[in-house]
Amino acid sequence: MKQLQFAIIGYGGMGSYHATTIMPQSQELVAIKGVYDLLPERNEAAKADGFFAYGSLQELLADEKIEAVLIATPNDSHKDLAIAALKAGKHVVCEKPVAMNTAELDEILAVAESVEKVFMVHQNRRWDPDFLLIRKLYQEKPLGDLFQIESRVQGANGIPGDWRHLKKHGGGMLLDWGVHLFDQLLFLIDSPIKYIHTDLSYILGDEVDDGFHSYLTFENGVKVIIEVGTTNYVTLPRWYVKGLNGTAKISDWALNGEIIRRTQQEIAAPKPIQAGVGLTKTMAPPQEEATEKLAFPKVESPYPSFYANFYDVVVHNAAPIVKNSEVRRVLSLLESILAAGKD
Ligand code: NAD
Repeated sequence: MKQLQFAIIGYGGMGSYHATTIMPQSQELVAIKGVYDLLPERNEAAKADGFFAYGSLQELLADEKIEAVLIATPNDSHKDLAIAALKAGKHVVCEKPVAMNTAELDEILAVAESVEKVFMVHQNRRWDPDFLLIRKLYQEKPLGDLFQIESRVQGANGIPGDWRHLKKHGGGMLLDWGVHLFDQLLFLIDSPIKYIHTDLSYILGDEVDDGFHSYLTFENGVKVIIEVGTTNYVTLPRWYVKGLNGTAKISDWALNGEIIRRTQQEIAAPKPIQAGVGLTKTMAPPQEEATEKLAFPKVESPYPSFYANFYDVVVHNAAPIVKNSEVRRVLSLLESILAAGKD
């Protein structure tokens, strides 16, 4: 099997992670022929990691042995780099968010179509074990139909790095973590959005959002809360989901948490408990025999890894797992949230 020869544009945090961690996991399918970064020190870092560093973007694009490029640069540079690579005859993997807006994405897709090259976006969090677990609960319904899904990521470190603070580079948390969480939920729930309201947070005083709460109702009745926070010294669970027959909490990426299912249709009247300075039956826990704790189901990705799929799309004309129409739908939604601006 011939490996696809890749070059990487941008050797910062994510470019180097692709090079040293993600791509080696598919090393029988993809090989890294070289790297280019605007900054000399990042090219030196690539060399120290054992990679050839091109002297310029032109040199990289002119290398006929390169069949595909990965773009891992700040968001505002994706469009021009993707178009240049496609026009140079390369297939393209592009980091998320794919572009600054749908007009940019449409330009890229038009070029990809005209040169008949593959363009695919690295929406890698479709492969996260915590997401795959929620997907299993949603599709296999051990808790009944899920009617409420809360998806959160919370940190206490503010907006990281430099360009992520600036609008002109496509900074802000909606375009950063938001694009992952919306991508997961829209990939999961096969129903149009009926209602959405988003509160962007500017608590840290940056020109871009440092987090947000988004409330969605889908036409199939499922309600979703998506939250990204960067000022959370105490965090809520990564996922909290409710079905008619139970509730699941996935606390973190290591899959700590619990899944509780109701075992009896008729639940005996709860005994009142002391609550603060009062009494409550409503908020008393269900009787022990009325529920069971489920083991976390095994989660294996039902689809091949990102680079295995990219290889299949390029070499065997397979269907992409991350479809450009899905990427466009998410970007269009984020664009409308940003256009609505600060509340
Ligand atoms: P970074 O700042 O760590 O690295 C970006 C690198 O690109 C820098 O080394 C910079 O010098 C270089 N660069 C900038 N413009 C360039 C150009 N025109 N040509 C060549 N090199 C250029 O940023 P990062 O965290 O690695 O983010 C890069 C991209 O990866 C962003 O789009 C980001 O959203 C994405 N990302 C994705 C994930 C994920 O999980 N999928 C995680 C982190 C970042």
